[in-house]
Amino acid sequence: MKSDTAGHGESRIREGYGRLLDWYRADYPIHFNSLVQEIQWGDDGVRVISNGQSYQARTCIITIPVSLLQNGTIRFTPSLPSDKQWAINAFRMEAATKLIYRFRERLWDENLTFIAHTGLTARWWTPSYGREEDAVIACYVTAERAQKIDALDETTALDMGSQELSALLDIPLKELQKGVLASKRLAWAADPLALGGYAHVPPGMAECRPLLARPEGNQLFFAGEATAYDTNPQTVHGAIESGWRAARECLAVL
Ligand SMILES: Cc1cc2nc3c(=O)[nH]c(=O)nc-3n(C[C@H](O)[C@H](O)[C@H](O)COP(=O)(O)OP(=O)(O)OC[C@H]3O[C@@H](n4cnc5c(N)ncnc54)[C@H](O)[C@@H]3O)c2cc1C
Repeated sequence: MKSDTAGHGESRIREGYGRLLDWYRADYPIHFNSLVQEIQWGDDGVRVISNGQSYQARTCIITIPVSLLQNGTIRFTPSLPSDKQWAINAFRMEAATKLIYRFRERLWDENLTFIAHTGLTARWWTPSYGREEDAVIACYVTAERAQKIDALDETTALDMGSQELSALLDIPLKELQKGVLASKRLAWAADPLALGGYAHVPPGMAECRPLLARPEGNQLFFAGEATAYDTNPQTVHGAIESGWRAARECLAVL
């Protein structure tokens, strides 16, 4: 089993991840805003029910977050096998939250890329690094810290973030706040289509990843970051590679 395939390089899509999705979907008809409610599967293929519409196919690749498989968002008829259900339930999805601040002008050193400290806003970085026209700094935390920030109302959370940032940058709070053009909290645990940031595997449950990835019959195939047992789970590249794996499995039976 490989533990890491990403290497040491870091890359960032300047225009945002939307550009990657545009490229991938260029040749395919994609139906947006079409939540799937039910998947019927059997020897005669797959029927996917979404908002009263029904789609028929020989195979189906399921890529929704494992948190949504856990809460039964999609009804499978017949039900998934019990060991697959065990694998689904074994994962833990943790909260992930960002506090993002856009400033009138950069108040930090142009070489600043990352700050770590022991406060509630433990990690900060500068998404606008290298772009003279923007001055954006963001805090990103997960698990218990994210839960604590999520429990505050958005204004209180953003004020708390400014206070910690003012101490970290050594800028008086009033001066820092005067420079803020816009700020926003993004909480993935509150997003009904994510219900968290990343799926992780508790100790002793390592087999849940390959089991979640296992095809069911010749009809159902599974991809998405949680299924990335032979590449990098919890990442975009791991999710993409798991999609390639599921596509190969699918082609092998077609
Ligand atoms: C704040 C944050 C920062 C991150 N930063 C990085 C990073 O810098 N680099 C990196 O590599 N990874 C990063 N990740 C992780 C990365 O975003 C995920 O691992 C990756 O997006 C997982 O892809 P996926 O396709 O498995 O799931 P998702 O991207 O969650 O896609 C699942 C899709 O299923 C859809 N869906 C849900 N329910 C239904 C339904 N019933 N019917 C139809 N569709 C449904 C959702 O709308 C969603 O579009 C970050 C994650 C977070 C939360």
